[in-house]
Amino acid sequence: MPSPPAAHSQVASPHSPPWIWPPAAYIHVPFCAHKCGYCDFASLAGADDLADRYLDALGAEMAMALDAPQAVDTIFVGGGTPTRLEARQLGRLVEIIGRHFALEPGGEWTIEANPGTLDAEKADILAAAGVNRISLGAQSFHPDLLRVLERNHGPEEVPRAVELVRPRFPRWSLDLIFGIPGSTVRQCERDLETALSLGPTHLSCYGLVYEKGTSLWKQWQAGHVVALEEDVERAMYELVIDRLAAASLEMYEISNYARPGDESRHNLVYWANDAYFGFGLGAARYVDGVRSVNTRDLPAYLRRLEAGEPPGGPSERLDAKGRAQETAMLNLRRTVLGIDRPDFLMRTGHSLDDLAGEVVARFVREGLLEDDGRRVRLTREGRFLADRVLCEFV
Ligand code: SF4
Repeated sequence: MPSPPAAHSQVASPHSPPWIWPPAAYIHVPFCAHKCGYCDFASLAGADDLADRYLDALGAEMAMALDAPQAVDTIFVGGGTPTRLEARQLGRLVEIIGRHFALEPGGEWTIEANPGTLDAEKADILAAAGVNRISLGAQSFHPDLLRVLERNHGPEEVPRAVELVRPRFPRWSLDLIFGIPGSTVRQCERDLETALSLGPTHLSCYGLVYEKGTSLWKQWQAGHVVALEEDVERAMYELVIDRLAAASLEMYEISNYARPGDESRHNLVYWANDAYFGFGLGAARYVDGVRSVNTRDLPAYLRRLEAGEPPGGPSERLDAKGRAQETAMLNLRRTVLGIDRPDFLMRTGHSLDDLAGEVVARFVREGLLEDDGRRVRLTREGRFLADRVLCEFV
């Protein structure tokens, strides 16, 4: 497979528009205490002894791809479980990131944390480095549902983590999952109430996906777990939307809810189809119209970078029409902004109506899209059938 391109190209530069030159950086830390049953991320358990080599490789990857420190508006450190690193290693991580990226004034620096892996020392290191947003993976507050997901933390660890986060970080978010096998609408409601009682200004609520190859998928295939009926899952999604709206957490993407101004700016970069840097195991990037993904093989990642080679992985340059189609699909995930016709034309060089006018008109007739002449957005009904709508744009 071709190697991913160096971040710099002949034509693109930091002066290029944000869909060409990245305003955002994603950094991946793959280590976890344990592999959760539903997890399809580039994450591994039992490899903590490789963390220092990994950090060396991460620094080498950045040094190889970037000629100079890059000014970015957002940094997102995800995983895996970044806070699984020891305090000393977290210090190294933020030092490496700070060597290669300069956060713009007012910028957003998020790190993902799992309950039970954050302590005061680690939180202090992150806050001192300039991290200003924490994304906490709660998933559920029901021990039986956490067991189904094969999460290895208890519900009581979430409030403890929030107590560490609240005084140190101005913004934080909780992740929840609904649609867990065996769960009820009542349990979903209690999860929402417990989450809201902690006072987050941002929530990500995902419907469970059975990712092929995961432990949960295998159990489902073997008939050991039974997926929820579609109408139950829909009732949960409706409940999530309405309960969070009542708490002033407005849906702004099909799985994300925030107080106005507390949206994840980093994730908005993805849904705008803007460019982003990506470093680390399995990390994706989109620079100057080229999408590339690093290998997910940790030994190969380490070996290549230690040999002074790029990490390796597939890459693809979409043509202008392909980029426009992708932009339409990603923009539609934004339930408030949707596709904004003038912005879309400026970014892609394509008129939405020339590109997908018939598809838009059909879904408007079916009641799945609304079109006010400028913006095209999913209707409430369209959000429940988003997969069906979005795939017609590519
Ligand atoms: S903590 Fe997150 S990244 Fe790690 S195994 Fe669980 S779901 Fe995957």
